[in-house]
Amino acid sequence: MSVSKAKADEAPALVLFRTDRRVADNRALLAASESGAPVAAAFVLDEESPGLRATGGAKRWWLHHSLKALAGRLQQLGVELTMRRGPMAEVVRGLLRETGAEKVYWNRRYHPVEHGIDRDLKTDLQARGIEVADFGGFLLHEPDSLRTKAGGPFKIYAPFVRALFSGREAWEPVAPPKRLRPWGGRLRSDRLEDWGLLPTKPNWAGRFSEVWTPGEAAGLERLAAFVRDGVGRYAQARDLSGQNNSSKLSAHLAHGEITPAQVLRAVAEADGVGAEGKEKFRRELAWRDFCHHLLFHNPDLATKPFNPLFERFPYRGDPEELRAWRRGQTGYPIVDAAMRELWTFGAMPNRLRLIAGSFLVKHLLTDWREGEAWFWDTLVDADPANNAYNWQWIAGSGPDPAPYFRIFNPITQGQKFDPEGDHIRRHVPELARLRGESIHTPWEATQAELRAAGVELGVTYPWPIVDHGQARERALAAFRLARGREQG
Ligand code: FAD
Repeated sequence: MSVSKAKADEAPALVLFRTDRRVADNRALLAASESGAPVAAAFVLDEESPGLRATGGAKRWWLHHSLKALAGRLQQLGVELTMRRGPMAEVVRGLLRETGAEKVYWNRRYHPVEHGIDRDLKTDLQARGIEVADFGGFLLHEPDSLRTKAGGPFKIYAPFVRALFSGREAWEPVAPPKRLRPWGGRLRSDRLEDWGLLPTKPNWAGRFSEVWTPGEAAGLERLAAFVRDGVGRYAQARDLSGQNNSSKLSAHLAHGEITPAQVLRAVAEADGVGAEGKEKFRRELAWRDFCHHLLFHNPDLATKPFNPLFERFPYRGDPEELRAWRRGQTGYPIVDAAMRELWTFGAMPNRLRLIAGSFLVKHLLTDWREGEAWFWDTLVDADPANNAYNWQWIAGSGPDPAPYFRIFNPITQGQKFDPEGDHIRRHVPELARLRGESIHTPWEATQAELRAAGVELGVTYPWPIVDHGQARERALAAFRLARGREQG
């Protein structure tokens, strides 16, 4: 790419980066580069506009590294990424004043609060004679564009996915700009290090980088690896938590480092891979659009049960039990492995999110919002739509949910999805030497087995915090009570 800087007095096209920290398949950047004006780029960290939810800790860790990667990538293209912090509208107006830019380009955001901020900003800027161009990319669809036959938003996944894919196999991502003409002026930029996005005391993210590399280049590499080695066995093996079978693309998608269009295109073009894996993957990826569709039309998805029956659900909410769940000390190995993996690496596979989530809501009778909040803070892929929807699904309170009476059995789920106990051994080292089935039920092991494995229940590893059978009955009784209240 050739780089020749434009003069400082030539008005630039300003590209705003937010949840689109990439150069490829970035329609805003492409349009700016084709506008004829030199390009100035900025990232705005908005933690102040009313209604925004504070970004969780693990996601902030990712954001820091993601911004570093984006700044580096843009620098290769000759463009400096200006970093500013403050309310979006105020900061953008300031940048326009400082640069003299008369054109602004951004990719759309779909969280209802962010969407509202951008809509108001666009109206305001246009009234001042600034040209604003915004683009899709974060999702496969525009949440306002897909409607049921009755004209409303979708609430059920199956018809949604039919509508989403009707007549389309894959989407067409756009190429990175062939040429960027950087703006010649200079803007004051904050120092990323001063934003305090990384944890320090203690540095609980110390091991994240063993498994994650934030940034567009790493996201594209991971996508290529999945297309090469993963999608072929995805349909059969996605749920086996002891293996590394899913794409691990969720954080790159949540941070906009890659787009679902790029992912679908790459998977559709995978060589020598049967249709089954591709189709299964396509349908999983579509959940992401479905969740965002629901959040767009239901701004309270993370805070308000969709089904009013759950407004006054008789949750117990025991703080000690919540603490034990968060720390992976419930005495159920598959749950504990999941929760410790989450804390140590900022993620866990989907099946384990379901098992651990169900355990909190049903076995411990704790409000799903506690779980949602913990995941929000600890997941590197924390996503306002995917997280909220899936927690409501588990709780039975959401649109198109799991029926409440479907209660995951943490023992049989462990046996089925981590049959050799590999995942448990990796994340709960104090059980690593237990043999055979006892890895899923240490409390049923003989004294000799426990001794040989160096396990002392109640000392090195907890007894089960609740009895599975009793907890199940208690959860069902709570549901009957809630339903009785509603009907009475
Ligand atoms: P793959 O199986 O490879 O799937 C590919 C992509 O499809 C994912 O990257 C994701 O973007 C999308 N996807 C897959 N399953 C789902 C699903 N059930 N709902 C929505 N999108 C899906 N996902 C997040 O991205 N952020 C969250 O905050 C989040 N919170 C969750 C909370 C709970 C309680 C549960 C049960 C699930 C949650 N998920 C969340 C969905 C899912 O678990 C993750 O997207 C998935 O585990 C990420 O791994 P992967 O990229 O290897 O997935």
